[in-house]
Amino acid sequence: MVQLSTGDMLRAAVAQGTPVGLQAKAVMDRGELVSDAIVSALIGERLDAAGDAGIIFDGFPRTREQAEALELLLTERGRSLDHVIELGVDENALVERIAGRFSCAKCGAGYHDRFKPPLRDGVCDRCGSAEFCRRPDDNEETVRRRLAEYRAKTAPILPFYDERGLVRHVDGMGAVETVAA
Ligand code: AMP
Repeated sequence: MVQLSTGDMLRAAVAQGTPVGLQAKAVMDRGELVSDAIVSALIGERLDAAGDAGIIFDGFPRTREQAEALELLLTERGRSLDHVIELGVDENALVERIAGRFSCAKCGAGYHDRFKPPLRDGVCDRCGSAEFCRRPDDNEETVRRRLAEYRAKTAPILPFYDERGLVRHVDGMGAVETVAA
């Protein structure tokens, strides 16, 4: 399946300094939501490239307007959603998970200060690189702001999908293997 992550697309736009990236950077650093028009256009561009492959939308839709834009984009292509997955995690656990995560700057392997530090301090287990990076928005203050945005703008779209019988609730508080299964 193809994973379409609007967060990844926006970070790529920021890194490349495109007009969208220049507009989005400050909003993302504050933990607020980028405009519906921008993210819906990004998804629209990628949908055609995905062809007939299955798609996992990651971090999209995040507002009612985006959910409606997605319906339209899919209908136009004769496609529809099969499942909407809600991963439930306590707010304090989320903050600890997100604020402690980092990745290898070279190969992208994911780590966590407390839950998954590299076997050898400062060296990537997978590729041996000594360079790591953290997202600028993965600090406690911004994570709490992102969660407030989720409660205000994203959680209210769950009933929209529940009415269509699409929502699957997954308890995200268990062990990694259990949640993944
Ligand atoms: P994520 O990688 O999904 O955690 O997204 C990181 C940041 O990118 C968010 O805090 C928003 O600022 C922005 N972003 C990503 N996806 C969306 C979206 N669907 N709608 C609005 N903003 C988004």
